[in-house]
This record gives sequence, structure tokens and C-alpha cells, in this order.
Amino acid sequence: MVAVEQPFDLSERHRKIQEIAREVAASVEPFAHEADECADVHPATAAALRESGLARHVVPAAYGGEEEILDPLAIAVVREALMYTSAHLDSLFGMQGVGSYSLAVGGSEELKDEWLPRVARLDAIAGLALTEPDVGSDLRAITTTIESRDGELRVRGRKSFITNGGAAAFYCVLGKEGDGYSMVLVPADAPGLRAERGADIIAPHILGELTFDDVVVPEGHRLGVPGKAFSLMLQTLAVFRVTVAGSAVGLGQAALDEAVQHSTTRTQFGRPLLELGAVGQNLALSWADVESARAMTYRAASLARQDPLAHLDYSSIAKVVATEAAGRVVDRGVQSMGRFGLVRGSKIERLYRNARPLRVYEGATEVLLDSLARRLGKKVS
Ligand SMILES: Cc1cc2nc3c(=O)[nH]c(=O)nc-3n(C[C@H](O)[C@H](O)[C@H](O)COP(=O)(O)OP(=O)(O)OC[C@H]3O[C@@H](n4cnc5c(N)ncnc54)[C@H](O)[C@@H]3O)c2cc1C
Repeated sequence: MVAVEQPFDLSERHRKIQEIAREVAASVEPFAHEADECADVHPATAAALRESGLARHVVPAAYGGEEEILDPLAIAVVREALMYTSAHLDSLFGMQGVGSYSLAVGGSEELKDEWLPRVARLDAIAGLALTEPDVGSDLRAITTTIESRDGELRVRGRKSFITNGGAAAFYCVLGKEGDGYSMVLVPADAPGLRAERGADIIAPHILGELTFDDVVVPEGHRLGVPGKAFSLMLQTLAVFRVTVAGSAVGLGQAALDEAVQHSTTRTQFGRPLLELGAVGQNLALSWADVESARAMTYRAASLARQDPLAHLDYSSIAKVVATEAAGRVVDRGVQSMGRFGLVRGSKIERLYRNARPLRVYEGATEVLLDSLARRLGKKVS
């Protein structure tokens, strides 16, 4: 087992990063509800994030970022603080990394120099296009094609449910190339690329449907080795999956705080709700859920910091633990607030909706459990 540096507490440096993230989140709080209702970029939220310089944490230092190698613990800590206040803010931050990491790992120097400093400054929004109208978890079934011909790459197909679709400056696109899978960077203004507004979901999100109608880009826009793009995706997941757990911890903490605030100030039967047996028990369980999820997330992120690919199982465990915990915590929060928890536009109602997609994207819980079960089998045999 690899030695873990400061596994259960944050270093001074991580605390400083956390402080900056909390300040940005606090500055967004007055319009967080409005931002979380947005299916387009919310300008004031993006401006606050841009000004904070936090997006530099998702880009390597050589291209305008903060650290030579991305630090999943720092990113998870930032996401925890941002999600505490706004899912829109968290998504704008997280997707700059998720959307650009294949470029950072597999792009040519020229391509990286062109785009990554802009990603770090939040001058160019990034997107990652994997999912298709008929293909979600089973990515090997995608039908988008990439064809190399006369020094150019030709992309044909459709991508669906793409975060930042329509708002991004470029997309890292996964397609079939011969018998393998390749990835290519397609600028949003490439002729033949059409972005349409995506579905309105339970918790508004910038979502787009992308059509690649014979889009041609130079061969230099290729990311990674032809036919071997799954390794780029794996590397992205290895760094960023655990950061979704960070978001879930932030959301769970916000839901717990909201429920505690309500149940200590509202009285029924002559006592604060918190003192009515089951309410207090439920919120104590939520506290235990949030603390366990945070401990697991920091531990998995510390491991990912040392070697992301070697510890992907722990990142998956953290994502399952933290997102499922957030679901339970916010549900108990609503229950403890009675009818007030059901009011549209209330904070707990917004958190309830924001919690739901976490268990589906970047690996649905069941998909992660399925792969963990296979890994368990290999450990035993
Ligand atoms: C808010 C949001 C943002 C998104 N952003 C992006 C993006 O930026 N880029 C992108 O490419 N995609 C994006 N997606 C799509 C996301 O990656 C997919 O929703 C996800 O991969 C699951 O695919 P699916 O929804 O088609 O579900 P399906 O694959 O149809 O699966 C449905 C359910 O079946 C179960 N299941 C599936 N496979 C297994 C299995 N092997 N074992 C056991 N159970 C299983 C799970 O419960 C799963 O939830 C986004 C989705 C959402 C909701």
C-alpha cells in the first residue's frame, strides 16, 4: 500500500485553496438560485469564477495552470466549496477540467498552446462529447465516426446531453476510427458542427445536442493515439471522478445545514423539531453520512493525487459513497422540513433537484458498482 500524505486532513495549501473557493461561493450566493435555474452561462457567476483564477487548478502549469500535474484533492476541495452554494458554479469550474483534460494529455504542443491558457483563464469554455442519442453507459457502442484522409480528419455523427453544448469554444469528441476509438478536438465554429439546445432537466444545466455533419479539422487536432482514445478517457476519469464526490459532499453539507437551521428554529409540540426523536436521529444520520463521504473523498483524492490510474477504484468508491449519501441527506432534509421542504424555489428544493443528476453522470452508481464487482472478483481469483 502506498503511503498517504495527510490522508485525513488538508494541508495548509489545500486550506488556502478552500478559502478562496469559499469566498467565490459566498460572492455568488445572492444570485445562486438564479444561476442554478440557467441553462445558459450565467454571466455574473462566470465572471466571479473567472476573477478568482480557480480554473487554473484544472490546467497544467506549463499551459497557464496552477500546478505541473493536476491535483485531484485541490479540485475536489474546490468543488465541495462551490457546490455548497451553486451547482451552476460547480459545473462551470469542473467542466473546464473534464472538457480539456484529453487535450492536456493527448494534444500536440501547438494545440495545447492555442487552447489551454484560455481554458485556465475561463476565456474559452470546454466540452467533452461522448454520449450519443442512443448510447450512454455503453460507450463502445458509439456510432460517430472519425476518418483520416489527406492530412485531415472528418467527423460524422451526433452527440447528446453534452454539458456546455452551445456555450463551449471547443469539444473533445470521441468517435470510432476503423476498429478502434479516437478523439479529436473540434472548435465550436467548425463548418458542419451544429449545436442545439438540449433537454430541460430536473435541475437546469447547460446541455446541448451536437450534430457533426462532415466536419473537417486538420490532422493536428487529433488527441492521443489513433484507435486508443479510451485511455484518454480513463485518464480523465482517474483525475475527475473523485472530484464529483467532492461536489456531492458540498451539496450534502448544504442540505444538512439547511435542515438543521429549520429544525432548530421551528417548534412543534412545544419543542424544536430537532428534539422530536426521529427528526434529530435522521439529521444525525445525515451528519454521519456527510462526514463519512468527506473522509472517503479526501482519502481517494489523496490517492489519486499520487497516482490517478492506480487508484481509480477508490475514486469510483468515493463517487458512489458521496453521491448516494448526498441523495439520502437531501431527502431527509426535505422530510424534516415538512411542507416547507416542498416549496418550489426554496433552497432545500433546489438542492433536492441538484442532487439527482450526480448519481447518473460520470458513471452511474450501478455502472461503477458493476466494475467494482468485477475488480473484486479479480482480487479473489
Ligand atoms: C446533467 C448531465 C450532464 C451530462 N454531461 C455530459 C457531457 O458533458 N458529455 C457526455 O458525453 N455526456 C454527458 N452526460 C451523459 C451521461 O454521461 C450519461 O447520462 C451517462 O453516461 C449514463 O448514460 P444514459 O443516461 O444513457 O443511461 P443508460 O446507459 O441508458 O443507463 C441507464 C441506467 O441503467 C443502469 N445501467 C447502465 N449500465 C449498467 C451496467 N453495466 N450495470 C448495471 N446497471 C447499468 C444505470 O442505473 C443507469 O443509470 C450528461 C448527463 C447528465 C444527466
